Amino acid sequence: MLIVFDLDDTLIDTSGCVTPFKMKSVLELVEKKNVLSKGVEEVEAELVELNQKSRSSSEALFEILKRYGALHLYDEALSLYTAPLPADFAIQTTPMAKEVVQMLRSRGHLLAIVTGGKQSFQLEKLKKAGFELSMFSKIMIPEDSIKKPCYEALLREFLVLPSQCAVVGDRIPMDLLPAKELGFRTVHMRWGRGLLWKKENWIDHSIRELSELLEYF
Ligand SMILES: [Mg+2]
Repeated sequence: MLIVFDLDDTLIDTSGCVTPFKMKSVLELVEKKNVLSKGVEEVEAELVELNQKSRSSSEALFEILKRYGALHLYDEALSLYTAPLPADFAIQTTPMAKEVVQMLRSRGHLLAIVTGGKQSFQLEKLKKAGFELSMFSKIMIPEDSIKKPCYEALLREFLVLPSQCAVVGDRIPMDLLPAKELGFRTVHMRWGRGLLWKKENWIDHSIRELSELLEYF
């Protein structure tokens, strides 16, 4: 099989360790610019709540800045969000992610990553989480987060049929739906943002931890 992983909230615990840190830096920015009509703790609680309900962090940032009439800070806030992390910043994987990747690889599966976002930031997170990049036959990082063309490119590059491919990701509309349309097997990771979406009947497997993949592949 060719198994394609999403990165954030699938291989790494973005919601648990990166998001809170990044939100703090954005809040520092808006506080410095004096655009808040409330205390920063109160705004932080609002941002956390908004983020839990949003499909992406950029959507949550947009909403909170709109709420405080500070949309002129959006570009600056967004670039802070994807700026390099401190050198000693540790990123946790989701439970057993590295072990599962190694195990799947040793079972002969081809592994790939398709993750949306800024290339340098996505690669930095992978490295800081301690993943051996050589475990993956291909890493694709579409900046616009549109994954279907990447999935199609993988089919062409590795000469595999869609039925021999699976996608594992937390976001159903972005990660899994385009894969399903191509005829891939789909695995929903219920982690972080992935908890926003309910189980849908067309999804082949729904997992809480990657180790469950070892039952299926
Ligand atoms: Mg994700």
